[in-house]
Amino acid sequence: MDRRMFMGALAGATVTAPSILRAQQLFRSYPFSLGVAAGDPAPDGFVIWTRLAPEPLEPHGGMPLWPVPVEWQVATDANFRNVVAKGEAIAHPETAHSVHVEIAGLQSSRPYWYRFSVGAEHSPYGTARTTPPLGAKLDRLRLGVVGCQNYEHGWFTAYRHIAEEPDLDFIFHYGDYIYEGRGNPMTFGAGHKVQSYVRSHVGEECFSLDDYRRRYAQYKSDLDLQAAHASCAWWVVFDDHEVQDNYAGLTDKHLTPPELFAFRRAAAYQAWYEHTPVRAASIPRGPDVQLYRRARYGDLVDMHFLDTRQFRTDQPCDDGDKPYCPGIDDPKAQMMGLPEEAWLAKGLRGGARWNGVAQQVMMMPVNRREGDEKEPRYNVDSWAGYNAPRERVLESMKGLGNVVVLTGDEHQNWVGELRQKEGKGDAVAVEFVVTSIASDGDGSDTRPGMDDVMAENPFLKLYNYQRGYALCEVTPDTWQTQLRVLDKVTVRDMPIRTRATVTVPHGRPELHIA
Ligand code: FE
Ligand code: CA
Repeated sequence: MDRRMFMGALAGATVTAPSILRAQQLFRSYPFSLGVAAGDPAPDGFVIWTRLAPEPLEPHGGMPLWPVPVEWQVATDANFRNVVAKGEAIAHPETAHSVHVEIAGLQSSRPYWYRFSVGAEHSPYGTARTTPPLGAKLDRLRLGVVGCQNYEHGWFTAYRHIAEEPDLDFIFHYGDYIYEGRGNPMTFGAGHKVQSYVRSHVGEECFSLDDYRRRYAQYKSDLDLQAAHASCAWWVVFDDHEVQDNYAGLTDKHLTPPELFAFRRAAAYQAWYEHTPVRAASIPRGPDVQLYRRARYGDLVDMHFLDTRQFRTDQPCDDGDKPYCPGIDDPKAQMMGLPEEAWLAKGLRGGARWNGVAQQVMMMPVNRREGDEKEPRYNVDSWAGYNAPRERVLESMKGLGNVVVLTGDEHQNWVGELRQKEGKGDAVAVEFVVTSIASDGDGSDTRPGMDDVMAENPFLKLYNYQRGYALCEVTPDTWQTQLRVLDKVTVRDMPIRTRATVTVPHGRPELHIA
């Protein structure tokens, strides 16, 4: 059977005996080295994902450059005695031999197990829950919040722990799944906190599709991360480092011509898609991708997953931590763009008991002035640099009393109220800024200067500078968030503990901290 006949057989979407034999001969080593994942669950199914990469860091993951059929199974038990759906998908070289299968026809509100195989090789299995029927009465939802996983800064121990948390309906990843920078086995941090890298990125800064593919392959080789993916379905968005530090729309920090930066964004988004369990609706078209989307968990929670990178205008004040400049008040500035803003405002009135707004950068306009600094100082990459869009979004939340914003990016835990009028007006929602999995390495409960920041911003209620994740348990009456933290990420196998439990009563944007 020559190559053309082989591919012709695959195009017919039936696995012929010769193609299976051929597949068995493909691999020098285990092809499921990047694990499995599930995502974007619905009442009748979810996406299941894997990528064939027998040599993850080699070009094309060590795969030959032709399409390969992959068999998949979904069962109601972890032993796969009762398989309720199965089929085959083609892993194409165009998408790095990744496989995204949109499973449908399943029962709502129940767990399933899934796995893949090629020839004699079998993947590990993963599990995921379908969501409740639309509008159905739901008494409880449990979710995890994770992100900012700099591979060089620390071990992913937090992922090992979240994989063992019982009964999670899903994990939300707020972005910085990879960091694009070059491998640098030196030290990082400054002043009181210089640390050594625990491991090093392979390669230079990512620009090309192959660069980003290899970076994802390196990150996804981490077994703790794989365990967290296998433990439940994820809802994934991206932030800046999936492309480049603090890019805004088609503007980057080197002022690359936008039409050229678009090539880099397209490469980065393609690699993101190839390694993320999302639906075909999120296949990139060049430098564009449909990222923002919504999930409905019965009558209890509507989750709104935002995109604050693709459509934003450039940061004011030349980006960074900056004193006030007039650009912060630019009425034409955009964080999401008007279509997404309208989509969110409408979705917030969808009638669910709670609204979860799951997004990337801090919405609270924190003034970071410390010590004897004279001027207020803002992180203008966050919503603090975009006053007009933030005030519009807060206006759309006014009167609801059921909005909880889940955020990342800061590499620290910050819990506070979202108050209108630049933080000086009435609270309309609450925000949990959730710390990093690994980025910034070992932390500490607090750090110098934070007393000043807390005093300066009365809407802030809790601060912590350790690594970890958040767990949310939502019932009709309360939204309870536990901040789970580790003392070190430069040492393996550290235990996890609850730093604080924060309760939000339904109907009032208040934070009760225990
Ligand atoms: Fe980050
Ligand atoms: Ca970020």
